[in-house]
Amino acid sequence: MTSLRRIALFGECMIELRGQVFGAMQQGFGGDTLNTAIYLARLCRDQDIRVSYATALGIDVFSDYMIAAWQAEGIDTSLVRLLSNHLPGLYAIQVDPSGERHFFYWRDTSTARSYFDAPNTPLEDAVSELSAFYLSGISLAILPPEGRERLLATMARVRANGGMVAFDNNFRPRLWPNLSEARTLYDRAYALSDLVLITLDDEMALRGEIDADQALANVLALEVPEVVIKRGVQPTLVRIAGTPPLAVPVETVPRVVDTTAAGDSFAGAYLAMRLTGTPPATAARAANRMAAVVIQHPGAIIPAEAMPTPTVLLTTEATPPV
Ligand code: ADP
Repeated sequence: MTSLRRIALFGECMIELRGQVFGAMQQGFGGDTLNTAIYLARLCRDQDIRVSYATALGIDVFSDYMIAAWQAEGIDTSLVRLLSNHLPGLYAIQVDPSGERHFFYWRDTSTARSYFDAPNTPLEDAVSELSAFYLSGISLAILPPEGRERLLATMARVRANGGMVAFDNNFRPRLWPNLSEARTLYDRAYALSDLVLITLDDEMALRGEIDADQALANVLALEVPEVVIKRGVQPTLVRIAGTPPLAVPVETVPRVVDTTAAGDSFAGAYLAMRLTGTPPATAARAANRMAAVVIQHPGAIIPAEAMPTPTVLLTTEATPPV
């Protein structure tokens, strides 16, 4: 995996509103795959790797702002489709008096759902240039049935061209009409992936599994070449087909501030490491470190000046500086 040059990530990024209901609200943007793209681009800045984000946005000032912000992060936006008569999705985060966060979504008509509403898309046209392709369960869930088929076909084509396909399970039950449809699509996505990043809680929700040990055994037995299992504070497991799973401890953090994007930043760092030839267990240790930094900051994206370098993530010292 050392000669990789271009990775595309496909998904949805929405406008974020955070603050008082009918009071002052701060605007931002966010989405699981976009968060991963930002962490990946930051960590690959000094590498010869082009990080391209594929999604659909509208022709409006909010979309313009997002594209400019992604470009400022070093993300290539040439695979973004701009569709007239559509607007980006929107979500609001409200924190109740006990500190609990509540999410409200307006995404049923968001532009990203329409990415494949054309005979050709920039993502599909770029397949032959892709050394790697990343998507999540949310990327699949938001698309209409025909779009899902096109996305799965894109995974297959990247792989047929010798590219690496990585899938993060990120299961969100409310985006699926029922579990059985979701399971069918997930099984197909896993079968098309070289690397699957799994949050065990999400996998249990998807499979209706209540026994964590059994759920873990099922995941470890998946027929995917490389499986990484994230379990919150418990050690991360890395299983390469044909070898016993390796347990990689997570970092000890003095205080968890906000776990938003823990898994997304883990994915960005894990991909950055694997794309530059780092072995799986070492990549998982670096990714645990990246996530440990992220959860000590509020919000999904930490300030650029708080970013550890790849060298810091790979250092043998016990805890990375925050
Ligand atoms: P997700 O964000 O996908 O739901 P997890 O909650 O499993 O995933 O967390 C993702 C990663 O974030 C973990 O694998 C670990 O590296 C890190 N992490 C999460 N919670 C903690 C914690 N309390 N202390 C240290 N690291 C954590």
